[in-house]
Amino acid sequence: LSERLEGAFKNLKGEAKISDLNIANTVKDIRRALIDADVNYKIAKEFTDKVKDKALGEKVLNAISPGQLMVKIVRDELTELMGGTEANFNSSGNPAVILIAGLQGSGKTTFSGKLANYLKTKKGKAPLLVAADIYRPAAIDQLTVLANQIGVEVYAERDNKDAVAIAQNAINEAKTKNKNVVIIDTAGRLAIDETMMTEVANIKNAVNPTEILFVVDSMTGQDAVNTAKAFNDRLNFSGVVLTKLDGDTRGGAALSIKYTVQKPIKFVSSGEKMETLDVFYPDRMAQRILGMGDIVSLVEKAQEQFDEEQAKKLEKKIRRNQFDFQDFLDQLQQIKKMGNLKDLMAMIPGVGKAIKDIDISDDAFKGVEAIIHSMTPQERANPDIIDQRRKMRIAKGSGKQMSDVNAFMKQFDQMRSMMKMMNNMPAGMGRMPGFK
Ligand code: GDP
Ligand code: MG
Repeated sequence: LSERLEGAFKNLKGEAKISDLNIANTVKDIRRALIDADVNYKIAKEFTDKVKDKALGEKVLNAISPGQLMVKIVRDELTELMGGTEANFNSSGNPAVILIAGLQGSGKTTFSGKLANYLKTKKGKAPLLVAADIYRPAAIDQLTVLANQIGVEVYAERDNKDAVAIAQNAINEAKTKNKNVVIIDTAGRLAIDETMMTEVANIKNAVNPTEILFVVDSMTGQDAVNTAKAFNDRLNFSGVVLTKLDGDTRGGAALSIKYTVQKPIKFVSSGEKMETLDVFYPDRMAQRILGMGDIVSLVEKAQEQFDEEQAKKLEKKIRRNQFDFQDFLDQLQQIKKMGNLKDLMAMIPGVGKAIKDIDISDDAFKGVEAIIHSMTPQERANPDIIDQRRKMRIAKGSGKQMSDVNAFMKQFDQMRSMMKMMNNMPAGMGRMPGFK
């Protein structure tokens, strides 16, 4: 998906404004990418139509390209579609009763352990795990092993074949043992069937759960939507848990499920370790679906930090060949406000990995800053008055070598003559990117 989307956004590179014409292909590509990621066709279409409407009205800031702006709109829309902010998980009650449902192999038992661990370590709760999978004796053992790892008690009745009774007994046990959260791990089948549904529904009616969580394997793609729908029709669950996000998972399931059943995704699980449970953050999932490095936050940072007025003033100065040391310093600070150089570069897709082990320090800037700081305001505004005597004073004041000052002056001169050259070019050619 990530490659597809990057391709989609490439279409927009170099276009100055988002218009009906230049967006058509991009919208089509985004739609195809979503469908590839197992997002249902109808949902993908509605989604891209919405994105298109938003994009057409948006004004493109100087600091970002239309393509980047599209990324941001897509990300924002994805985030909103998946619930906007993180969903609330209710674990209050005496005890709170959490019912876990889903197909066999979806990760219910593993998730039950993770949730118990999460509530114990992060929320200071005293959980009780309940083995209500009465069909496979191994299921009790599995839950017990997990429970031992995290130091949580398990309630099980090996000879009882009545899951409803086990659940009810467990709640009584919790009350006498001062456990304030009961997590009921139920049985699943490989496919939706009536016996399973009836059993879970009966447990639901008997224990009046605080939360009913539907657990689904995020790798099952399109099927996940049908399963979610069937469970929701029967149980009216309160939230979704997406498991196995550590694999080569297509995030599309998250989008489709949320869209189809209109229930919040509350947790995501990635890995078999008990600690790998996360509250679901729609914005992070949107980013995952986009799979485009951190380009969106780069865009956001640029938006926050880039002052349009200042950009206009700067443009004027460059046009009049008046770019001076103070402007240079301002630009430097502008860049630094956006984060350190390495982090900034790492946000560019494809670059992050390449520079992971390379040491890029911000020290390179420090020397230059020190030199400019040692100039008088008059010198900053009039680079040409800086003669040998002044250079010596600046070197001393900044603690730099004379050769450093000379090197920087030379660079700065080159930059200015480049700007001058560009100003003399015919309109439309050679404008500096970012100074548009
Ligand atoms: P249940 O039948 O719904 O109770 O599913 P289980 O909890 O027994 O999980 C089925 C299999 O998936 C087991 O081998 C688990 O170790 C594995 N599993 C569960 N959750 C995850 C996960 O988030 N990531 C990975 N990689 N494996 C998982
Ligand atoms: Mg199980």
